[in-house]
Amino acid sequence: MPELPEVETIKRHLNLLLTHDVIVKVDVFYRNIVSNDKDFETKLVNQTIHEVKRSAKYLIFILDDYMLYSHLRMEGKYFYDELPDKHTHVVFHLKSGHKLSYHDTRKFGRFELVDKKDGLTYLKEQKKLASDPDSMTLDEFYQGVVNKSKTIKEILLDQSVIGGIGNIYANEILYSAKIHPAKKGFLISRNEADLLLKTANDVLNLSIQMGGTTINTYESLGHKGLYQRHLNVHGKTGEVCTRCGSIIDKVMLKNRGTYYCPTCQKGVVIGLTGGIATGKTSAVNYLKKKGFMVIDSDEIVRNLYKDEAFSQMIGKKFNALNEGKLDKKLLSSIIFKDNKQKRLLEKIIHPIVFSTIEEAVSKSFEHLIFLDIPLLFETKFKGFDTSLLIDTDESLQLERLIQRDHLRIDEALDRINSQMSLVKKRKLADKIIRNDGSLKALYLKIDDYLKGFSI
Ligand SMILES: [Zn+2]
Repeated sequence: MPELPEVETIKRHLNLLLTHDVIVKVDVFYRNIVSNDKDFETKLVNQTIHEVKRSAKYLIFILDDYMLYSHLRMEGKYFYDELPDKHTHVVFHLKSGHKLSYHDTRKFGRFELVDKKDGLTYLKEQKKLASDPDSMTLDEFYQGVVNKSKTIKEILLDQSVIGGIGNIYANEILYSAKIHPAKKGFLISRNEADLLLKTANDVLNLSIQMGGTTINTYESLGHKGLYQRHLNVHGKTGEVCTRCGSIIDKVMLKNRGTYYCPTCQKGVVIGLTGGIATGKTSAVNYLKKKGFMVIDSDEIVRNLYKDEAFSQMIGKKFNALNEGKLDKKLLSSIIFKDNKQKRLLEKIIHPIVFSTIEEAVSKSFEHLIFLDIPLLFETKFKGFDTSLLIDTDESLQLERLIQRDHLRIDEALDRINSQMSLVKKRKLADKIIRNDGSLKALYLKIDDYLKGFSI
């Protein structure tokens, strides 16, 4: 699909050919292309083409009484003085004797003829089209990004936020700015928005200078673009990142081919843990509500036991079968009495849980992935980049546990002491969030923590 630089190139070529020429006759061979405007041909007769302008991916023919908007969509092309074929849907006959033909193999392109008085505001009001990157302020762009939970890649493609960027340039801009394509809009800092806007202009301007990108069928009135020689990631799966030497990868993100460097645009896997009753579950629920991916190790274990063959095997191995079925209560009492048995069970279960986690991480394409692992430090699992401890004061922990589970003090202390101490966990954690106030205070601290993943 032609994006801003390609449409700008077409605009420049059209201006060289059409300025001051007059339309004398129009043939329309496929009515949908002209938005079923029944007066399209008659209105255009005797209209002078004063200039061709562009906004985002729209071409705008400035006529005497009208503005003619042309959107090429997937495959729309213009030809000058070429004989029509079956894909030619509109022909403009000009006073100079020349012909401008509109050609579209997919038939998705559209013309819209608008009265000149409504023409200037048409795209903004009727199409909800945002400004081009070069006429957009940082404030405008930042406001369009920061309140969205969509990914930054989707936001860059959203023509109501920023005009003219399609899949090729979104991939290139995010690579140049070293931003993960799946980063959520609300995590984009003002600095990053500034960087993205500047990078967008640099990338688009260089491409305009090169006449756009010709990798599929794009050409502008017979001219092919040269920006494909400057592409860093788009279409480069398996090639080497020129910046860091990693191999460029491709994933599908909301059905769009997304090319990126796994090192320059790295996602982060966060091991999340806590102590008993420190508030990890509240943190997890908040993260899920904000749309983050959280992999729950306890759930993986529960699913494991749902597998009949697995629970049979465990039941036999630990003598915990009751009427031929695994008795979970019996199993817990066996392993809590005997540390050796406990370690044996862990030796069976932990590797399965870890490989399930690692598989889920490798299959997903997320900027941040949280692993909810109560025994993060005890198990010596290494499949995360950074760890986060939800922590609280020991007396508060005891108080919360007694209230939550209706326990006596000695029972609560027994349960707390059966785990790795908070003192030890604090030493091992990369970051600590102290949960010693209200839920709202916890959420604000999590928001602050998330801001640490932006520049
Ligand atoms: Zn790289």
